[in-house]
Amino acid sequence: MRLFPALVLGVPMIAQTLSPYQERAERFLQLVNPSYQSLTAIQQEALWAASTNVKPENDAAAEWSSKAAAAFNGNPFLIKEARELLQHRAELKPITVRELQRVLFNAADAPMTNPQLTGRRIAMETRQASTQNGFTFKLDGKTISANGLDKILEESKDLSERQKAWTASKENGPVLRDGLIQLRDLRNGCAQELGYKDFFALQAAKHGLTSEEMLKLHRDFLTVLKPLYLQLHTWAKYELAKKYQQPVPKALPAHWINNRWSQDWTGMVDGVNFDAFVNKEKGWTSEKIVKTAENFFLSIGFSKLPESFWQKSDLYPVSPGETRKKNSHASCWHIDLDQDVRSLMSVEPNFQWFSTAHHELGHGYYQLAYSNPAVPPLLRDSATTAFHEAMAELVSLATRQVPYMKATGVLPADYKADPIQVLLAEALETAIPFMFWGSGTMTEWEADFYAGNMPADQMNTRWWKLVRDIQGVEPPSPRSEAFCDPATKTHINDAPGYYFNYNIAFVLKFQFHDYICKNILKQDPHAANYAGNKEVGKYLRTWLEKGATEDWRKLLKDATGEELNTRAMAEYFAPLTKWLEKQNKGRQVGW
Ligand SMILES: [Zn+2]
Repeated sequence: MRLFPALVLGVPMIAQTLSPYQERAERFLQLVNPSYQSLTAIQQEALWAASTNVKPENDAAAEWSSKAAAAFNGNPFLIKEARELLQHRAELKPITVRELQRVLFNAADAPMTNPQLTGRRIAMETRQASTQNGFTFKLDGKTISANGLDKILEESKDLSERQKAWTASKENGPVLRDGLIQLRDLRNGCAQELGYKDFFALQAAKHGLTSEEMLKLHRDFLTVLKPLYLQLHTWAKYELAKKYQQPVPKALPAHWINNRWSQDWTGMVDGVNFDAFVNKEKGWTSEKIVKTAENFFLSIGFSKLPESFWQKSDLYPVSPGETRKKNSHASCWHIDLDQDVRSLMSVEPNFQWFSTAHHELGHGYYQLAYSNPAVPPLLRDSATTAFHEAMAELVSLATRQVPYMKATGVLPADYKADPIQVLLAEALETAIPFMFWGSGTMTEWEADFYAGNMPADQMNTRWWKLVRDIQGVEPPSPRSEAFCDPATKTHINDAPGYYFNYNIAFVLKFQFHDYICKNILKQDPHAANYAGNKEVGKYLRTWLEKGATEDWRKLLKDATGEELNTRAMAEYFAPLTKWLEKQNKGRQVGW
């Protein structure tokens, strides 16, 4: 039992003198916090039902509960009061300031200070989503799915067939173009309702940064990684020229790469196929995969998942004969902003799910960690959106380490792989081109689009200038303004100003991994095993438990001693840079 010191001494607690603004803020937040939490729970429960059992009545319930949550979060009274109180931030506690800022960010999507504008934005978002989802791609006059086009780009060695598939994949751009231009004004308008210059400024403010600071952050990432990217780019263009029996180009033709946007460069390394080890024949079941993931966390000192996780999650594919349809995208949900954490997956016994299950539980353990009395519901979230993905990705990275996989019986004890080939595949498929795409092209284009008054007749020209300058990629044939290639990227339409979170998360992942390997495990970051080390769990909890109560820069500095930067990522791939320099000796580097 715990006794409060004041009661033990038998004297009344000395009332702290609070500023009148602090008192007013506390009264206000006593209203907002519980309402926010219960509306979130109702909305999440309805969205969960709609995702795990897709049918019209569940969709309708989800829509109404979302409207109820938006009506509360965007309420003009809340916006006015939070803004007024924030004008006296010097007299408020830092955590109170953060709660009030969160009230405003929650309002930003649907500010009811201008219901007409908000209504138009919601209607336009819905229309754009349905145009996007309903678009039918055609190849040689025949209907083909986006997956079908991707398959051609993954498998075909015939350049004219590849070019046709690549060109077909860009045909939804023109039909999405006008909607995107209208959405720019509506999104900027909603951000301006909250006092931000534009929509990009609002997104940067969620990280406590100005637009210029956000752009500088990403440019600095790329400056450090550029020598490695140049080497990878050179190696890739020589490899692909050989594969397609073409002269070596300066920039990479977009249709030579398997991904429609050149965001990751897969299929170039006959690397490592872990699926050969995680399958039914080797004794793996879906249940065993999820239990192995939970065991990872138990072994580093976290508690068991709550019983409700196992009762309420939807972890496996719909059984044969069941007519229910469920969303196939893996996710982890924080239903009540407390202990009701659930995961939606369709785990099957293969390596992809082995890694994904660890990733999703990474989100789940983060959610459970910040659901503690020191964190008010408004701040039960990661330090920034990027931190959630960083934690989940960190766990994925830890569980792809060969020593961990040997310890869990995934790999046989005598397993050996060429470490440079593993690193090369990792760099190409998951890390380095992705940075130049996300931190580069995507972020620069969106900043220009929302904040830079990009003329509507320059959208495609500016896009391709960025792709060429930053990624070193060019289209197979000229792309005039009759096309709108940025709009072919889903996130540009439905998750605007958000993509850079993935890039920040990747940078963070390497920083945390580097810190853990060097300072706690004292192991090589390329061959580490977190499992069984309780100090790792203790370390993770020091920052997971804070949720969003502290500025992310302080949290990162306290946790790693460093600012956000790509040093750890560059160091991780340093052996690869050396190897590539040897391979590329005498070759034409750059574009
Ligand atoms: Zn995730």
